[in-house]
Amino acid sequence: MRILAVTLLIAALPHPAIAQKSTPRAPAEVAQAVREYRMDNEDRIIRELSEFLAIPNTASDTPNIQKNAAHLVEMLEARGIETHLLPITGRGPVVFGKLITPEAKRTVIFYAHYDGQPVDAAAWTDGKPFEPVLRDAPIEAGGKRISFPENSAHHRAVYDDDWRIYARSSSDDKSPIVALLAAIDALRAKKIPLGVNLKVIFEGEEEAGSTNLQRTLELHKNLLGADLLITADGPVHQSGRPLVFFGNRGDIGLDITVYGPVRALHSGHYGNWAPNPAMELSRLLASMKDADGRVLIDGYYDDVAPLGDAEKKALAELPQNDADLQRELGIAKPEGGGKKLVELIMEPSLNIRGLRSAYVGEQAQNVVPDRAEASLDARLVRGEDPRKKFDQIVRFILKQGYYVIDREPTIEERRTHPLIAKIADEGGYRASRTPMDLPVSKKVVDVVEGAAGPAVKMPTLGGTAPMYIFEELGLPVIGVPIVNADNHQHSSDENLRLGHFWRGMEIYGAILADLNW
Ligand SMILES: [Zn+2]
Repeated sequence: MRILAVTLLIAALPHPAIAQKSTPRAPAEVAQAVREYRMDNEDRIIRELSEFLAIPNTASDTPNIQKNAAHLVEMLEARGIETHLLPITGRGPVVFGKLITPEAKRTVIFYAHYDGQPVDAAAWTDGKPFEPVLRDAPIEAGGKRISFPENSAHHRAVYDDDWRIYARSSSDDKSPIVALLAAIDALRAKKIPLGVNLKVIFEGEEEAGSTNLQRTLELHKNLLGADLLITADGPVHQSGRPLVFFGNRGDIGLDITVYGPVRALHSGHYGNWAPNPAMELSRLLASMKDADGRVLIDGYYDDVAPLGDAEKKALAELPQNDADLQRELGIAKPEGGGKKLVELIMEPSLNIRGLRSAYVGEQAQNVVPDRAEASLDARLVRGEDPRKKFDQIVRFILKQGYYVIDREPTIEERRTHPLIAKIADEGGYRASRTPMDLPVSKKVVDVVEGAAGPAVKMPTLGGTAPMYIFEELGLPVIGVPIVNADNHQHSSDENLRLGHFWRGMEIYGAILADLNW
């Protein structure tokens, strides 16, 4: 009797996880609990993902993109998350959600986008990018189409880690949303309290340039109080290790047109006499860089914010794969005078992204062309102002003796100025980068590594994303992507490796439970 009574008493005590609200479990333990929950619920989680992927999500497809938003509202409200749609005319709204944790002192905003790149269905192996397909391996490795396993009375559905779901946005960027929500379900099922207040911002036009994001968020600033923004967009490192990144580059774009005679001229009758715009443009472009790829434009590197010790250390520790890349890409001698790729993406770039004058190959004509055109892009790093970068390039062109205009030249101008450059300014935006030695930066790394093992830590990605918008709100911005690097992002046959998806759930679960700093 006595023993039974004690047993009953113990059984009546609150669950340890509830009793120990102030001492959260270690990330590895949380990850384990999320894994246990997931293994019992794979069917339900994959069904939620598949249903979401089945809604076409090109940003300009107004009815469908709004269907995605409505579906997201259902997914969030099913979890008791307070939801607001921040409307954008003709586009998918920003879906905002808020989940308050009574005792939490920190608020984390989780950013992802629910739109995807436009699709060319004919280029997809299964022909229908919005009908999710399961394969037992990547298509490149001969992966075969298999049916989605289902729960039965005796067996629960089990998915292999190496299986892949093929559909638009299966990686970019719907699966992180489902992973986050499934992680919340797992924590609740395992009675692990959230350690932070959670807000979500799910954007519906990221792949269309995030044109309205800043303006929309400014109108709803009152919702955005927080201590950190985590972006889920992008893949993990090619090595397969988890990735934590702390910045994105900015960029600017411009087109340069250089003029010759008012019409293309016979190269026999006029060659040696009529100035050739393709030659002039080549000379101009070639003068912008030295043989190592160093930009020769005055002041080009002056505003680059120096790296801190934490960033230098992270760069030194990054996996070395330049030699592999050189082999794979057929590059005998990279630019950069011996610097590594990861060091070079910490510097501004200047790139000719396209070049055009008259015709080549079978269409070649024996002419002195009337014009030559180049399109340039420059990636910016922290410290640089997009306007100033554009002005530096224009000043350089002026210094080479060009008469610079922003429209077609008049005949009078052509008669007067031997060198004329029309420059079309495409605009751009600045880089963002959060210092890696902030307490919050270290804590995010600790939690991710605690949950999923050693991570690759990058001071910045080479690519561009408008994370400066959140930086301007005063938030540190840290990237914690989860999907496989070989996911065919933006292309046909986009896919998600399930092992990465499951690990992503565990990482997000650990962040929600343990991110205190
Ligand atoms: Zn994306």
